[in-house]
Amino acid sequence: MKCPYCNNQMEIGRIQSPHEVAWLKGLKRPLLNRSFLHRGSVVLSKKSMMRGSAVKAFCCGMCQKVIIDYSDRSADLNC
Ligand SMILES: [Zn+2]
Repeated sequence: MKCPYCNNQMEIGRIQSPHEVAWLKGLKRPLLNRSFLHRGSVVLSKKSMMRGSAVKAFCCGMCQKVIIDYSDRSADLNC
């Protein structure tokens, strides 16, 4: 994947966590960060009891950006 900022070739990798990985609206951090409690949240990787969660991500070292394409059905590495 080419970086949309600098057109450099991006390196494929993953973002992983022992918890669900989700994008949540706003910057307030409630005690419970469970995505189903937040309207408009985007679950990037569902949690697996055995493996936690992991989502495919592309990194550009030149501009220090990480991009996750959640329209890609294969991005959630737990599916
Ligand atoms: Zn870049």
